[in-house]
Amino acid sequence: MTAITLAAPLAGWAMPLTEVPDPAFAQGLVGTGMAIDPTENELRSPCDGVVLSVHRARHACTVRAASGAEVLLHLGVDTVGLNGEGFTAHVRDGQAVKAGDPLISFDMDLVGSRAQSLVSMMVVVNDGFTVDGQSVNREIAVGEPAMTIHGGSGADAGASAAAPDSDETGERGVVMPIANGLHARPAATLVAATKAYPGTVTIQCRDRSANAKSVVALMGLGTVLGDRLTVRAAGPGAQDMAESIAVLIEGGLGDPVVDGAATAAAPVAATPAAPTAQPVEEEVGPPFGPGEEVLLKGTIAVPGQAVGSVVRRFRSAVRVAEDGAGPAVEEPRLHRALDSVIAELGRSAERMPEHAAIFQAHRELLDDPELLDGALADIRAGKSAEWAWQRTARLQADALAALADPRMAERAADLRDLEQQVLAVLAGKAPSVGLAELPAGSIVLADEILPSDLAGVPAGRLAGIGMTHGGPTSHAVILAAALGVPTVVALGRQAERVPDGAPVVIDGNRGELLVFPPEDMLATTRTAVAARAARREENRRTAGEDCRMADGTRIEVFANLGRVSDAPGAVMEGAEGCGLLRTEFLFLERQSAPTEDEQYQQYQQIADALEGRPVVIRTLDVGGDKPLSYLPLPKEENPVLGLRGVRVGLREPELLRAQIRAILRVKPAGACRIMVPMIASPSELLAVRRMVDEERTKLGRAEPIELGAMIEVPAAALIADRISAVADFLSIGTNDLTQYVLAMDRGNPHVAAQLDALHPGVLRLIRLAVMGAKTYDRTVAVCGGSASDPMAAPLLIGLGVTELSATPAVIADLKAFIRTLRMEDCRRVAEAALGTDSADEVRRLVAETWPAI
Ligand code: PEP
Ligand code: MG
Repeated sequence: MTAITLAAPLAGWAMPLTEVPDPAFAQGLVGTGMAIDPTENELRSPCDGVVLSVHRARHACTVRAASGAEVLLHLGVDTVGLNGEGFTAHVRDGQAVKAGDPLISFDMDLVGSRAQSLVSMMVVVNDGFTVDGQSVNREIAVGEPAMTIHGGSGADAGASAAAPDSDETGERGVVMPIANGLHARPAATLVAATKAYPGTVTIQCRDRSANAKSVVALMGLGTVLGDRLTVRAAGPGAQDMAESIAVLIEGGLGDPVVDGAATAAAPVAATPAAPTAQPVEEEVGPPFGPGEEVLLKGTIAVPGQAVGSVVRRFRSAVRVAEDGAGPAVEEPRLHRALDSVIAELGRSAERMPEHAAIFQAHRELLDDPELLDGALADIRAGKSAEWAWQRTARLQADALAALADPRMAERAADLRDLEQQVLAVLAGKAPSVGLAELPAGSIVLADEILPSDLAGVPAGRLAGIGMTHGGPTSHAVILAAALGVPTVVALGRQAERVPDGAPVVIDGNRGELLVFPPEDMLATTRTAVAARAARREENRRTAGEDCRMADGTRIEVFANLGRVSDAPGAVMEGAEGCGLLRTEFLFLERQSAPTEDEQYQQYQQIADALEGRPVVIRTLDVGGDKPLSYLPLPKEENPVLGLRGVRVGLREPELLRAQIRAILRVKPAGACRIMVPMIASPSELLAVRRMVDEERTKLGRAEPIELGAMIEVPAAALIADRISAVADFLSIGTNDLTQYVLAMDRGNPHVAAQLDALHPGVLRLIRLAVMGAKTYDRTVAVCGGSASDPMAAPLLIGLGVTELSATPAVIADLKAFIRTLRMEDCRRVAEAALGTDSADEVRRLVAETWPAI
């Protein structure tokens, strides 16, 4: 038995639960603990642990202590109805916290005036624990010892009881009639009604499912009025049990029932799959076989060709046997597999200390008792370890992915990773982490590669990437481009039929994957790849020289960088500086914000590696598809149209100021320029300039620093003249500009083929931006993906762009090509391109003029 002392999560008047003006808490239905009438507006963690869930209304959150005790912290009474108004969450689900870390802050005036009471509860909600020593009926300071929990034995605490001796199952649908869904009070009532039942009861909502004996799990479902729920019971009298729970829900579980909720419920598009069914997978056909020459068409992501053997990394295609050999065999198998993956994660963290945070996050997921309990429950119901693990991991991953929060989606991807690793071990293979263990000449086929997959790829092993999903400018593709790995995305699910080890040709210039190609084709491609490599070697010899067009016009070719180790290679490729340092890539895999010093060191190292060449450092561009685990942003319906780029920087000024100071400290003073992403209006840049000037004064730095605006938002291109009045330079981010102009998500495979920066609509905006910049004689660079596309280069130059910042791997070839161009041809073709109807037409025009591309 272990005992832990919880610290007061709030300052205020501590009181027994019985005095709480909410009967469910007062009667101990929710759990045992105490309450505090707060005098301060910040809820802090009462112990070290992991955040199990933050309620969607941000008024409550649960922390699981190391002993397994689940501590629900509920701010105020009847606060769920505020729907998040007045509450700011500082943590996300799954995050590790220390005692005293801020969890939620709240506006005392707003919440106090709108809620029934501000009295806040701290209760232990899971079984197997007792609480005593509540320090109540006195003023308590935050962090003071508040109560003690006894019981639990670590991560296994709360493991499911043995399955009942019955194979009865029952099911009943019901519509959520409560205005605020299953918040603490109705969840507690539901738990009270199911607790004594010897079997299991689950509630399914959309594609998530929760144990009806757990308040936390029920709250974590995020149910809302009108949701269609399925109650499932397994055990003696299961159908009656499901029936009676559904009736209780229909009755509101003690909360008022909203009339007409059932009839207003949205029709269920797809009935959720029964949890005891094999995970449904769309049939894609049998594997392709030798001699079966197949051409799969996708979308160009990273140009270049490669020949190699397929390494499959599909996260969705593993089929496993459902029936197990009994719990006595399957349980230890699962435990051994989990231990083996955990050990491998430890070894990987030692091998790649710079990515240790990723492996630690994976470890924490594997330690989640809900995951283990779910799988063990299936095993005890006769399933195989593989089936049980796959189903539980998927259910949880889908639940996370459905939360419409990119950070949760990232955790879902981590879980899918772990699903595969544990399955691999159960199948007798070694667990593999990311793409770290590839044989040389591998062409990886996957549903989707993640940026973290590419983090540990050993040089030279990964020859090509094909993805069934993904978009051409996703951040994983940007990293693949930095590695110079030909990549094709949006190949569709037929790519899942390509077997492991199959010889393939990947053609990143045409967006194709040729499977089991004839021998002569393999030979021709090998020759072409070798010739290209030789040409590149040749181009590299002159790459260090300045880039001048055939008529003498100077065009600067810079490199896009995302990590310190990219810099020396970029110089070898002929980069004349760094035109875009994606600073968020430096800090994506961390659990906490980098300090100013850590940032400064990275920037200084990059400036040193570039040996006096300019470095354009972009301030943090997080949000959208680049969430940061240590910067919880509010949940957004459309994150790509929400808090991104400079909007986050202005909202979190201390983060931005620390970054600005780190940049200002780099020596020599003229080495760096600052570039601000997602600018829509001059006022945003002016706000950043004010911060830069203030920090410069504080640091006593006399030299000014250039401050530029990225043109990625269509409005910014349209008022580029106004932005130029306050910017020292402009740089066009064609990836986002194209996404916003064409209204096509850059990560969506369904529109990947049309997402082309050479669309005349995008080109017209680029021309407007260049014309606007001329008003104040500002230079215009392009640092989006089209700067690396040889077809785009003559057009961008013809439109007046004088600097291209490209992915390092293409720089030598790009400079060699630009040296063959004449400005008058570029202007003529660019002018013609503006008068076309489509990107295809534009590409034809370019190909006719420069057939060698
Ligand atoms: C762009 O949008 O073109 C750009 C360079 O920024 P990122 O790709 O990092 O969003
Ligand atoms: Mg961008």
